[in-house]
Amino acid sequence: MKSILVTGGCGFIGSNFIRMQRERYPQQTIHNVDKLTYAGNLENLADLIEDANYHFHRVDICNREALLKLVQTVQPEAILNFAAESHVDRSILDSGPFVQTNIIGTQVLMDVAREVGVARYVQVSTDEVYGSLGSDGAFTEETPLAPNSPYSSSKAAADLLVRSYVHTFDFPAIVTRCSNNYGPYQFPEKLIPLFISNAMENKSLPVYGTGENVRDWIHVLDHCRGIDAALRKGEIGEVYNFGGHLELTNLEMTHILIDLLGKSRDLITYVQDRPGHDLRYAIDSSKAEQNLGWFPQVPFEQGIRDTIAWYQSHTDWVTRIQSGEYLQYIEEQYAGR
Ligand code: NAD
Repeated sequence: MKSILVTGGCGFIGSNFIRMQRERYPQQTIHNVDKLTYAGNLENLADLIEDANYHFHRVDICNREALLKLVQTVQPEAILNFAAESHVDRSILDSGPFVQTNIIGTQVLMDVAREVGVARYVQVSTDEVYGSLGSDGAFTEETPLAPNSPYSSSKAAADLLVRSYVHTFDFPAIVTRCSNNYGPYQFPEKLIPLFISNAMENKSLPVYGTGENVRDWIHVLDHCRGIDAALRKGEIGEVYNFGGHLELTNLEMTHILIDLLGKSRDLITYVQDRPGHDLRYAIDSSKAEQNLGWFPQVPFEQGIRDTIAWYQSHTDWVTRIQSGEYLQYIEEQYAGR
């Protein structure tokens, strides 16, 4: 592909995806469209500023006029939609921005993509659209959508809109659904970077409820490889699940981080559970493995050590974003707990 347009490229997964694209396909032109919300950080791609094949555009995907002008000008072969409000806790405090960006933004982006004509569109979605599991089983692409949070509902609504565009307009879209990502450049409101940075400063680690909720963890680069495989080899109209084959309770993950950092488990504080907290997610990625030849490659033991080392060597990055709006949000989030 000569040219791709990535939305939300200044966030955690988008920035890792763009860097991977640069390394894999140096001749390809990349347009990064990002509104720069609290979660978007230009610093995440500072190493690409001088790169002639990389272009940043500060545009809101809900802004049809600006988006259309841009897409008409740059004529990308493919669009990948990473842009989203992505934090469940924030969606519980205020679902408005989630409906706006995750649903309306997807609709506007697809309409613009249709108007200009793209060969491929990839909607980056989440396993959370499937809802919650009991103690066994795993989500397949056939599992009915049953989202439980305003975040996952907004993502599910977008997935359904994508599905309808494929069926109604022959829109060349593919949907990917991935489990919980970990790795460098993740905003420190999410469990792993929050707990690493708190533990490094001997601050408490707020575990929801009893910490029994189970998540499947995957290294962000394995997710990015999956999205790349879906973009290049996926079949239009199909959904592909990606998971890391690594289920851990939140408490188990917390213990792993504390132990690797050489800190005391006394740092753990149990806080009131998240309302509607899904008990367990587990994902069956056999379709992606068989049809895309994709497998997770990063062993967890290595990936988590590298991730900790990254946050230890990027304390300035963490400090710079742990200010202003972020602090205000954290105060509101944990008020009274
Ligand atoms: P993130 O919050 O780190 O980044 C989101 C990015 O989108 C930010 O750069 C932000 O500025 C940008 N953005 C938000 N609203 C925008 C708008 N209206 N217009 C343009 N840009 C906007 O999120 P992430 O963790 O990198 O997640 C990326 C995508 O992957 C999301 O769609 C999310 O639902 C999905 N996903 C995430 C995970 C995970 O574990 N983090 C797992 C599965 C799927």
